[in-house]
This record gives sequence, C-alpha cells and structure tokens, in this order.
Amino acid sequence: MVKEDDPLREYRDKRDFGLTPEPLGAQGEKGDDPIFVIQKHSASRLHYDLRLEIGGVLKSWAVPKGPSTNPKDKRLAVPTEDHPIGYESFEGVIPEGQYGAGTVIAWDIGSYRNLTVKDGEQIPMELAIRHGYAAFRLEGRKLKGSYSLTRFRGGKDESWLLTKKADEYADSTRDILVAEPYSALSGRTVEEIAAEGH
Ligand code: MN
Repeated sequence: MVKEDDPLREYRDKRDFGLTPEPLGAQGEKGDDPIFVIQKHSASRLHYDLRLEIGGVLKSWAVPKGPSTNPKDKRLAVPTEDHPIGYESFEGVIPEGQYGAGTVIAWDIGSYRNLTVKDGEQIPMELAIRHGYAAFRLEGRKLKGSYSLTRFRGGKDESWLLTKKADEYADSTRDILVAEPYSALSGRTVEEIAAEGH
C-alpha cells in the first residue's frame, strides 16, 4: 500500500487553481491556540463546513443543517477532505464547473481548546478523531462554549454528529444561523457576495 503522506493531496487534486479563487495553501501551524472556522457554503446544496486545525491542516466536516446552540440538536457532519491552513479566511465565488461551485463566507471564526478526555486523561485531537469522539470549546465570534463531534458510522459512509454541550452558552430560544447570517470577517452575506461576484 502507498502511504498517504500528503494530507492536502485530495484538496489539490479536486481543484484547478487557475480557475478557482481558493488558496493553494500549505501545511503549517497557525499559532498558539488551534483555530476553527465554519464556512457557509451556498453550493448545489446549502451547507456549513466545520474546519478544525488539527496536525497542521484544517480537518473538515460538511454540516448540512449547520451548527446549533441548542444541546437537543444533533447535527449530521460528514467528513470531507483536509483543507490547508489559510483556507479559514477564504470568502468568494467558486466558478461553475469547479469543485464546490458556489459562494463561501467565513460565517464564524476563532480558536478552540481540546477538551477530549479518555480514561481520565486528556488526549490529543488527532487521537480523539481517530477514536471517533472529540470534545472542544469554541471561542468564536459567534459560537462559544463546548461542542462535541461523535462518529456514529464508519467506513465509506462515515458520519458524525455535531452537538452543543449544555453550558452557559447553550441557547435553545433562537436559531443563530437565521439571527446572524453574515460573515464574521466581512459582515457580508452569501447573497451579497454572490451578487458582487467575489
Ligand atoms: Mn462545502
């Protein structure tokens, strides 16, 4: 078996960087606290992409219904290819015919802290993801507090659930996706970026 030693190969193979405005990107550490981003992606189907900085890349899940602040909601999260550090600030229009064609905004961005504990000890995020359960505390512009990702199906149809934990930031009284639709970086909505074309 060939060892897959370039985690960004699939990301690059799927894209023509002469046509898409998305960054080519590279592996690397971002800084002190690992970062996260949730990009709202109006593609053939609207979804939200959760990306967590783990091991020098942005581990990614497509969340069709987006995150919730209500601990009762379990949101399906389907793994997608690793994205490069730097992708977190990408907003714009991916042209027709390109992978992921549609409009992207950085709906929320910030840092996170790994809270995953196994047998009474904290384990690294890489290991947490491999084991199928990760707990983390988001410090975003919009989302704050503890969330978990739990794998409930492996193999070809690998699927996870993204859930808000009950803490002081849990809120079941409003839908944050509706209440705060704009980009955390530019203040624009996907509709505005689509209309402007970039
Ligand atoms: Mn996407």
